[in-house]
Amino acid sequence: MQVDEPAMSTHPEEVSWAVDVLNKAVAGVPAKLAVHICYGDYRSLFPRVLDAKVDQFALEFTNRRFRDLDLLKEYGYQKELGLGVIDVHNPRVETVEEVKEGIRKALEVLPPEKIYVNPDCGLKLLSKETALEKLKVMVRGAREMERELETGSRNRRLSSGTWNTGRIHGI
Ligand SMILES: [Zn+2]
Repeated sequence: MQVDEPAMSTHPEEVSWAVDVLNKAVAGVPAKLAVHICYGDYRSLFPRVLDAKVDQFALEFTNRRFRDLDLLKEYGYQKELGLGVIDVHNPRVETVEEVKEGIRKALEVLPPEKIYVNPDCGLKLLSKETALEKLKVMVRGAREMERELETGSRNRRLSSGTWNTGRIHGI
């Protein structure tokens, strides 16, 4: 279950209150829990926002050129991550390679099994045609990265005898 939080970044002075309210809202819910926080200066929410009792943060990265991954690294982030790889505020369709590059950057912070590939945010600002093209590119990028990781795992298996079945979670 994902809770969408569209305004936390616009009111960072209220992050403590917002996290408390979120925790009360999801307390006792027997489901995997995620919170999506719309784009903004995520740094202004850290580290307090990490007290949110959720399994996953779904964040917008493309819009800010993935620099907030440094923030996750800085705070030793270990939860699952909804990795936004599609800029919903820009009608230009990303390339598959751009999507893959974003995933590669996230793989420097988290193992593949913790990464869920998704658009930065909802697609309502885009035309239907553009939204569909962006989603196709996103899925192709995620699938290609999965294949590259699987090939890499097989190679590692040959040399070390271990088998890593970690996958990137796409839609
Ligand atoms: Zn959003």
